[in-house]
Amino acid sequence: MKNLLDGIEEILLMGPGPSCVPEEVYKALSKKTLGHLDPYFLEIMEELKDMLRKMMNTKNNLTIPISGTGSAGMETSFVNLIEPGDRVLILLNGVFGMRMQDVATRLGAHVDVLEFPWGKSVIPEVVEKKVKENSYKIVAVVHAETSTGVRNPVDEIGDILGDSETIYLVDSVTGLGGIEVRMDDWNIDVLYSGTQKCLSCPPGLAPLSFSDRAMAKLNARKTKVPNWYLDLTMIANYWGQNRVYHHTAPVNMLYGLYQALFLILEEGPENVFRRHLDAHKMLVAGLEEIGLKMLVEEKWRLPMLNAVCTPDNKDELSIRRRLRSEHKIEIGGGLGPLSGKIWRIGLMGHTARQENVSRLLRALKSVLS
Ligand SMILES: *Cc1c(COP(=O)(O)O)cnc(C)c1O
Repeated sequence: MKNLLDGIEEILLMGPGPSCVPEEVYKALSKKTLGHLDPYFLEIMEELKDMLRKMMNTKNNLTIPISGTGSAGMETSFVNLIEPGDRVLILLNGVFGMRMQDVATRLGAHVDVLEFPWGKSVIPEVVEKKVKENSYKIVAVVHAETSTGVRNPVDEIGDILGDSETIYLVDSVTGLGGIEVRMDDWNIDVLYSGTQKCLSCPPGLAPLSFSDRAMAKLNARKTKVPNWYLDLTMIANYWGQNRVYHHTAPVNMLYGLYQALFLILEEGPENVFRRHLDAHKMLVAGLEEIGLKMLVEEKWRLPMLNAVCTPDNKDELSIRRRLRSEHKIEIGGGLGPLSGKIWRIGLMGHTARQENVSRLLRALKSVLS
């Protein structure tokens, strides 16, 4: 019998995620599976929570990985906090803002959307006016909009919301591990991420943190959380001191995340962010030399997700296919209204290295000529 796994090649992952995985993380994933209530595994869980707090710069007690991909982090955040009729404001400038709108609407929230042009950032002054005129239970924004390569001013929006009653919810699936995230300083109440972007672990977990204020809204619910699997009141009992069984933690995935966080903290988050920025600058310079243009204005560019306008006279899909087949490099295409118009070149986590940038630039030059 032929085993398809024997045919897996090593591809340089320079798309919008997953990113390249360090050897140490693969090794961690293949360590012996322990029982999910094993005392040694519980020690690993405790340290994982601490490492996540360091990455997010938060003191929040409930800081844990959710068993599921980044979207499970999004779903967990909304499903635990929304009660039918709650007024929610989504700041939208890309695909992942749209996903938030969909998730919140399905839960029966009264959703307002403040939309900004895709490829441009959210404007804090416009948000300020909107939140002054209305009373929202939740304001939600995407930190690093992976569909467009835009960084949103999450810190400034946090200043505007300040100590108001409004819960401030931030998607940093692509941000965490690539650019600074200061959850407590930026007044963020709810933050979630994913493992396969700048944390450089395979997809499968969603780090998430809830502030005391978010926990208070959860605990004051009049109705049960309408989703059993993602109900944080039960999950917190499993990750807390009681260790009450809820679902079986994906033990080996958690080893992988442990190792991925260990590597970032060992290198030093500041150094990791600088590595992203250096690789990004080198990429932009190289792309401009070939005559390609960036979609996003310099100030709002994400180092880990580079949106590049595709050349007019070429079939962009066939170029991506050739990069994959001839050069073993994956880059991403555009989503929604940007489909066919941009490439999305990821420099996420372990991928964000100058040698990878050189390899891509060489390959692009050869394919484009
Ligand atoms: C990738 C991504 C998600 C969804 O994560 P999945 O792991 O694909 O479920 C959500 N938000 C943003 C900003 C993302 O980049």
